[in-house]
Amino acid sequence: MRELKISSFENYKEVYDYSVKQPEKFWSEIAENFTWRKKWDNVVSWNFRDPEIKWFEGAKLNITENCLDRHLEHNGDTPAIMWEPNDPEEEHRVLTYRQLHDKVCQFGNVLKNNGVKKGDRVCIYLPMVPELAIAVLACARIGAVHSVIFGGFSAQSIADRINDADCSVVVTADGGFRGPKDIPLKEVIDDALVQCRSVSRVIVLTRSRTAVSMIKGRDVWWEDEIKKVETQGNPDCPPEEMDAEDVLFILYTSGSTGKPKGIVHTCGGYMVFAGYTFANVFQYQPEEIYFCTADIGWITGHTYIVYGPLSQGATTLLFEGVPTWPGPDRLWNIVDEYKVNILYTAPTAIRSLMSFGNEALQGKDLSSITKLGSVGEPINEEAWHWFNEKIGKGQAPIADTWWQTETGGVMISPIAGITPTKPGYATLPLPGIQPCLVDENGREITGNGVSGNLCIKYPWPGMLRTTYGDHERCRQTYFSAYPDMYFTGDGCLRDEDGYYKITGRVDDVLNVSGHRIGTAEVENAINMHADVVESAVVGYPHAIKGQGIYAYVILGNSTHNDKELVTKDILKTVTRLIGAIAKPDKIQFVAGLPKTRSGKIMRRILRKIAEGETGNLGDTSTLLDPAVVEEIRQGAL
Ligand code: ATP
Ligand code: MG
Repeated sequence: MRELKISSFENYKEVYDYSVKQPEKFWSEIAENFTWRKKWDNVVSWNFRDPEIKWFEGAKLNITENCLDRHLEHNGDTPAIMWEPNDPEEEHRVLTYRQLHDKVCQFGNVLKNNGVKKGDRVCIYLPMVPELAIAVLACARIGAVHSVIFGGFSAQSIADRINDADCSVVVTADGGFRGPKDIPLKEVIDDALVQCRSVSRVIVLTRSRTAVSMIKGRDVWWEDEIKKVETQGNPDCPPEEMDAEDVLFILYTSGSTGKPKGIVHTCGGYMVFAGYTFANVFQYQPEEIYFCTADIGWITGHTYIVYGPLSQGATTLLFEGVPTWPGPDRLWNIVDEYKVNILYTAPTAIRSLMSFGNEALQGKDLSSITKLGSVGEPINEEAWHWFNEKIGKGQAPIADTWWQTETGGVMISPIAGITPTKPGYATLPLPGIQPCLVDENGREITGNGVSGNLCIKYPWPGMLRTTYGDHERCRQTYFSAYPDMYFTGDGCLRDEDGYYKITGRVDDVLNVSGHRIGTAEVENAINMHADVVESAVVGYPHAIKGQGIYAYVILGNSTHNDKELVTKDILKTVTRLIGAIAKPDKIQFVAGLPKTRSGKIMRRILRKIAEGETGNLGDTSTLLDPAVVEEIRQGAL
């Protein structure tokens, strides 16, 4: 067995070195820290051609034993989940490990009573309430495969996902609350199910008390089903013994680059990777309060609200609402109320909080915060500094965590308080992760001070195994661009110190007069301008330069809003920060940007508009607010 946690930067370097030289030994020593029914016969067998990847073959386990049962003896009364409702006036809830264990067992039995068996797919469409985590863990408990869909997707997107995974049961709620909005979840499910033949049962949680239609023979109430289990009088729900390579869950990627793919993760490797990365990146200490603002509907919520923290016996805070409702200081009130120690959020949230100015921070203590995290996009330097100075008071290390739905957990990131950070840099790979940069011809670029396409050349336990129902798509998307490598789709720079900086998606790299410029780099510079709240940059065909730079810019409510002057100022700012070569050719001022429901800019749409091709914008079903597209289309230059 090897100590799970890295203890110093020196120790990191030693462990990293060892993990590359002896990856099988390294991961098997790490895996010893978890509870297994039976240990593995073989640590890893793999090829990236087919691809075929197997970790801990022959091992038996149930991930919920690691997340629940193993904590009961010594930490049964430790809070596992603390829940802050959307409405700050509503009472919050706390579930200890024992209570969570009991509720998971109960709901596991509900699922069984409703015909769910090992291997069946269960669609979960719930608001951010504790029952969402309970439903997820109950599936894992009985060996059912969960497919969580973010509680904001439309009926059509849900139907596509249910049909793709062939789900037999849906778990939902009457409705949910997010900020000022009531979301009629059951109604959306009813609309979706018109197109889904596979679903024979819908379990409905009472949350918003909106009127819903309940179809006899298909729809049942969560609370009634719990009562039935109680009267059956058997609170036990023994964990189903799973093979390490049995499927744990399917999760559809957000779709910022095309039709959603059902990413498949398996039990053993995912468990080890989620636990290992959580413990290390955030250097979690007992009794710390950990708060990740993501939704469980995204991979960040799966790995770093549910499985990672719970596998380590941590206290994880679940928040139903949005960071800026009912006021711009909501998030800071939560931090102070719960004395949050670790805050993990996204650049889009940071920028939005930042746009309210310092007033929102007035009178907030925030002194409980000792560690910060960021995920989802490259974090622009201005946001990094603001996060560091205003929220971390210059004392809390920022873990800029680079990873993907496909990687299952964090790949490149500072280890909080251990790895020296640099603004905008994801810094160094975690032990066991072997990134490399590759040029267009698939040749590895060695040395430092270089940039290229980010690939990973050795498997890691948390990596995707396939895309559900379509293995060829998995091969095509991730393993065909470069032989024997996993291709991330992201561009990356490795500086003189060997530090990694993600420059954005590879298809977001522009070629302007032969110069390769990352869109993120230009956005970074534009965002430095005092009046700019947010921006998005795309390329478009340019007769002379090859590609021109088109910038969509959201301005704040500054008093001098002379567009012409601001345009000139922005050009000056970009020229000063990057050089004249990166000056946008066109700047369109917009009120909003098309974002996916996970808060990412859908550049695909902006690119089409910039190219003047506005007829068919492709699949926009995962957009948060489709109306902004129309406005942008109208104002296109
Ligand atoms: P889709 O694959 O459907 O287009 P998506 O890539 O946005 O959706 P995710 O898996 O949630 O879905 O996001 C992973 C991507 O987010 C990464 O490939 C990268 O582009 C970006 N990303 C995540 N974290 C960081 C980070 N710390 N720095 C820079 N980019 C990041
Ligand atoms: Mg992706």
